[in-house]
Amino acid sequence: MPPCASETCTRPSRWWRLGVARGATLDGQWHCSQGCVEAVIRTRLHVVPASQEVRPRLPGIRLGALLRHQGAVPQEQIAAALEAQTESRLRLGEQLRSMGAVDPQALLRALAEQAGVSYLATVDVARVHEAPGGLSLDAIQALRIVPIGPPESGRIRVAFPAPVPRTALSIFRQQTGWMPEPYLVGDDEWLALLEHYGATSRGRVSPEAISMGFAREHDPQEAARRLAQVVMATGDARMRDARWGHYVWVRLQGAGAGFDLLLERAPEARSEGAGPWQAATTSR
Ligand SMILES: [Zn+2]
Repeated sequence: MPPCASETCTRPSRWWRLGVARGATLDGQWHCSQGCVEAVIRTRLHVVPASQEVRPRLPGIRLGALLRHQGAVPQEQIAAALEAQTESRLRLGEQLRSMGAVDPQALLRALAEQAGVSYLATVDVARVHEAPGGLSLDAIQALRIVPIGPPESGRIRVAFPAPVPRTALSIFRQQTGWMPEPYLVGDDEWLALLEHYGATSRGRVSPEAISMGFAREHDPQEAARRLAQVVMATGDARMRDARWGHYVWVRLQGAGAGFDLLLERAPEARSEGAGPWQAATTSR
């Protein structure tokens, strides 16, 4: 039996050599106890190579040009919206909508064209009743992405409101292993999807779900404890974590089952700058 991988392990080496340790393997490394798994996870939740998320600015002028080109909004309305935007700090599309200057469908079409993605003018909420993709409502709200169909040959259709959540899409791909096929939807459709996702499957795992649980935590210590429990229960697990904004999404995968944990930075910790973690995306 190899030595415990935890640097903080206090067990004497002869203890694990006796073979009495009920340990578990995480990412191919053996740990002698739940405490040692927890210590390693705690470190991984804290020590993150930080890379600031770059949020591309929405090119307002181009959206305006598109809307004008489509004949959806007259030039003087766009000029008025660009003017008002400097005060309101709304995005151009939101500004036009708040002024009642654009038809929501025309705006959706222009936003989709601008972002180079497809859009859905209407959505059938029954599609999401069984929670395709097996994600939790917490994950969906954090990602701002709703899977709208079962995964097929490694691909899955997802819907989201503007702007296109590029970081979340790459995190979704990294964590689930599915290639998302993106569809932009209007704000009302988005809310309807949120309301109906998993409506008929709450409390049970949908057939295609690869997740056996989803927990939401604000406390990194408690998150590490719960994750360590799952690692011990599976005996051999792989851990992947991705982070963006105020969230860390940890996915544990063991033999035939998975466990997701969404760690959300507590609101009071957000203003402190260097909190328990920094906004960053990692891939292991
Ligand atoms: Zn140990």
